[in-house]
Amino acid sequence: MPGKPDANEVLGLPPAVRAEIWAQTIGCIEQYLNQVEHFRVSPESLDPEPLRRRLAEFTFDVPGDPFEAIAFAADGLSRHQVHTSHPRYFGLFNPASTTLGIAADALVAAFNPQMAAWSHNPFAAETERHLVRSFGRLFGYREVLEGVFTTGGAEANLTGLLCALVRQFPEFCQHGLQALPGKPILYVSGHAHDSLLKAARCCGLGSSAVRQVPVGPGLNMNLAALQDAIQADRAAGYLPFLVVATAGTTSTGAFDDIDAIVTICRRENLWCHVDAAWGGAAALLPEWKHCLRGIERAHSITFDAHKFLSVPMGGGMFLTQDPTILQDTFQIRTDYMPAPVGHSGTLDPYASSIQWSRRFIGLKLFLSLATAGWEGYTRVVRHQTEMGELLRARLIEDGWEVVNHTPLPLVCFRDPQIECEATLARIMEKAVGSGQVWISSVRIPHLTLRACVTSYRTMPDDIEALVVTLSNARQEVLGG
Ligand SMILES: *Cc1c(COP(=O)(O)O)cnc(C)c1O
Repeated sequence: MPGKPDANEVLGLPPAVRAEIWAQTIGCIEQYLNQVEHFRVSPESLDPEPLRRRLAEFTFDVPGDPFEAIAFAADGLSRHQVHTSHPRYFGLFNPASTTLGIAADALVAAFNPQMAAWSHNPFAAETERHLVRSFGRLFGYREVLEGVFTTGGAEANLTGLLCALVRQFPEFCQHGLQALPGKPILYVSGHAHDSLLKAARCCGLGSSAVRQVPVGPGLNMNLAALQDAIQADRAAGYLPFLVVATAGTTSTGAFDDIDAIVTICRRENLWCHVDAAWGGAAALLPEWKHCLRGIERAHSITFDAHKFLSVPMGGGMFLTQDPTILQDTFQIRTDYMPAPVGHSGTLDPYASSIQWSRRFIGLKLFLSLATAGWEGYTRVVRHQTEMGELLRARLIEDGWEVVNHTPLPLVCFRDPQIECEATLARIMEKAVGSGQVWISSVRIPHLTLRACVTSYRTMPDDIEALVVTLSNARQEVLGG
């Protein structure tokens, strides 16, 4: 007698239906994970029209069938996305999700803890605190250690910028940039992530406050140029306040000399933030940890768990050794929020970070790390760096020239015989268009192909498939 569901059932659905929905959902997930490697890596077409027509059928005028809706979504995701979970996705740091991360996201959605106030979910808040401290220690932070989970690296970088402004200019918090006697300036590598430009805009500084310091031959920040820029800006009446060192640039995986940059910051009295969104994973490898030398002296760090640690998006972290900066930056008083509980280390997230209501981001990292352990993660990251080495060697054998140096599995390459950028671009389009692999390109400053091992599923066969696909694409473009 299916009559109208009561209000409770409209959104919650009756228990028997729920059970079937979970079964269907888990079926979709398992099917995807088992079959994605046989899919094209990228969609055949990027024409929005067929999708728009199909979606327009959903007028929402009458209730629909939940099973059909879920099947529609799973089918759409299967056929219309770049499959970052694919072992032959050699892309932009977007990994295949950990199984425990998928489970965690479902649990979080169901329990829906509200992360704004500590008192609303001591478990979730303390879990995140434990992770913040564990990762701070991984990077060598010792005594004081605060941090917050963020949607990703961009929000963590914005947090870093705000904290630096607040610490360097005490009047900023209340009176804003207008209260300052000059324009604050920050320094980043010419290859730093452009989220820093956006962060500068969000802070009201404008992107002209960001000095993109030229890179040297290692494609990392030229320190003499950094010091010259600071002196020149001071002489011109600007207010240098922050240097961001990048540990693993997005375009080439280069590491800035963090230790030297911290030393310059100490001498110049500047905040030092390290953007280790991706390259921070080097801390897991004793053989490459030295790339991060000095990070333990930085004021703050960005790290993304949704990159090398493969948790589902988005999971970033902002870590700092300044014990009060998060409160100083984000403290706010309201009478409608629960009162702080007052135990040590029980900051309310809404009063110590950018977001207010937010999801329990940390659980996907907690369950993944509790299962794999540091040891498991070390094995995975090492495997990926080995796949990167194999890729480098195979590309060189095949006549490509590798133009970047990084211990991490990111390879930038060109063909020394091919001068014309359009030709190189066509080779990439052909390779990606084949659906067999996904790679991208960067300008450093010339057009260069870029392949990054981002999936823990990538094995030697996948590397070989990439090299063969590129070789065929090159032959087709040059031959025809
Ligand atoms: C990915 C990345 C970012 C941006 O992080 P999101 O998680 O995409 O917001 C910032 N910096 C670096 C170095 C990155 O690799």
